[in-house]
Amino acid sequence: MSAVIVSGKELASEKRAFIKTEVQKLVADRQTQPGLAVILVGDDPASHSYVRAKQRACEEAGMQCILEHYPETLTEKELLERITFYNQEKTVHGILVQLPLPKHINELAVIERISPEKDVDGFHPVNIGKMMIDQQAFLPCTPYGIVEMIKSLNIPIAGKHVVVIGRSNIVGKPVGQLLLKEDATVTYCHSRTKDLSSITKQADILIAAVGKAKLIGPDYVKEGAIVIDVGVNRLETGKLCGDVDFDTVKEKASYITPVPGGVGPMTITMLLQNTLQSAQKIGRANKTFS
Ligand code: NAP
Repeated sequence: MSAVIVSGKELASEKRAFIKTEVQKLVADRQTQPGLAVILVGDDPASHSYVRAKQRACEEAGMQCILEHYPETLTEKELLERITFYNQEKTVHGILVQLPLPKHINELAVIERISPEKDVDGFHPVNIGKMMIDQQAFLPCTPYGIVEMIKSLNIPIAGKHVVVIGRSNIVGKPVGQLLLKEDATVTYCHSRTKDLSSITKQADILIAAVGKAKLIGPDYVKEGAIVIDVGVNRLETGKLCGDVDFDTVKEKASYITPVPGGVGPMTITMLLQNTLQSAQKIGRANKTFS
């Protein structure tokens, strides 16, 4: 039996329509238009295309997007100053610095300079720490989007064995943590894991966040598993593909996300959601104290 293909594109478009309505309400009721400042350093083509997609999504949702693009030579000090400026700028509710940054800039110093209240990417140690102890925080967008996709299937997560392949700070680690919060039993695998397939075959929900084209074939997947493919890899043909060999694994899984059109559109949607949430919160604070 062939798996149900979980369209992140469709779910994202439903969620974006809702976000747009909420933005309209915020503008009408509190004269607050959510604003996102995006800072891009250098000329990495993939980063350019991600930033363009984020800008387009913001504008479609009725949010303001300020894009600042700097040459590769921008110093760390200059970048930190721009972040400090936006931390204080009242019309900006979210700040995003597109990663990766040039090698001479310390990524952690940059992330830490963003006010946790405007860290709509959810990468600041304060937000990560709050997420770990179940306090309200901005959740990192890709893991947040993955959990929303799984929830949209209306299949209980509690008690399921989730296997996450990948332990990065932005995807692997937090997605396991969020699913632990949903009462799943979580196993992490990584490049030093021995006999990977013997572990992934135990997964009710398998999440691949590696960055290796078609690493996961049907031998890595249990019959009827839910398979979430986070990987974005470019083949020699120029086509995009995930970490999962979609055509063969879809014959074994019960649900599978495609690449493109799966996790990717959800990531940007959760960025909009976080920016909206920030504007709603700051708007409320202004109302209370004015
Ligand atoms: P990353 O920081 O490079 O992490 C990759 C992880 O995979 C690491 O934990 C690494 O293990 C593990 N790994 C590498 N080779 C492995 C192997 N052969 N077997 C098992 N584990 C292996 O990457 P990332 O930032 O998490 O991103 C992962 C993928 O998701 C990339 O393709 C990226 O483009 C994509 N992505 C997509 C979105 C989206 O919105 N769709 C967002 C973010 C990322 P070690 O820790 O031991 O090195």
